[in-house]
Amino acid sequence: MSAITLQGVEKWFGDVQVIKGIDLEVAPGEFVVFVGPSGCGKSTLLRMIGGLEETSRGQILIDGRDVTDQPPSGRGLTMVFQSYALYPHMSVAENMGFSLKTAGAPKVEIDEKVGAAAEVLKLDALLDRKPKDLSGGQRQRVAIGRSIVRDPTAFLFDEPLSNLDAALRVEMRYEIAKLHHRLEKAMIYVTHDQVEAMTLADRIVVLEGGKIAQVGTPRELYERPANRFVAQFIGSPK
Ligand code: ADP
Ligand code: MG
Repeated sequence: MSAITLQGVEKWFGDVQVIKGIDLEVAPGEFVVFVGPSGCGKSTLLRMIGGLEETSRGQILIDGRDVTDQPPSGRGLTMVFQSYALYPHMSVAENMGFSLKTAGAPKVEIDEKVGAAAEVLKLDALLDRKPKDLSGGQRQRVAIGRSIVRDPTAFLFDEPLSNLDAALRVEMRYEIAKLHHRLEKAMIYVTHDQVEAMTLADRIVVLEGGKIAQVGTPRELYERPANRFVAQFIGSPK
């Protein structure tokens, strides 16, 4: 069964259609990247999957369950954004455990899950620090840690690295790839950066004007781009 299924998904803002009938299946453990130029609908589609944006038409299924009309909290997904506002007065551990605490989880369970996530993210030694005493990359890891503790079916990332400098972006890209190998969870990752897409993706979905221009492995897109738009976008010689 697919982790995430989109069937004929459309989005209208008033009488403007920005998502124009998307069909897609994301397998458990698969890393899917949405790419395309600014304004093509990447964030809107991701927000619809996460439940932050209503779906005008079509269905969204998570683990085979129709969640089209479910609020974000009922979907078993988690979203990681570029602006990873951490609570400044809380420690790393408190930031990571906060959503579990508000959900009423017992302290032992919170400590255990935060500890496990900290190990994966190499934050063990930083759990007592405040966000202001962390580097940009460490803060981004804490933001991801907040998502991991909730044990989601899938992770949704919207350009999570775009606020970081070039060197840190490369480092965090490796971290995200490692995280994916380690967790084996489905991930949908939005970026306008071709290099990020080519290095992270099992499959790339190229979006153009709210439609899928092509879906395929990085190699398929590079070697056999469906049209000039995809070729130019992927940087294929053809
Ligand atoms: P991307 O993330 O690929 O840059 P978006 O999903 O943010 O693109 O936007 C897709 C299109 O939808 C754009 O034309 C944008 O202006 C429009 N759009 C996004 N959000 C809204 C909104 N809340 N109301 C009206 N139009 C919107
Ligand atoms: Mg966007």
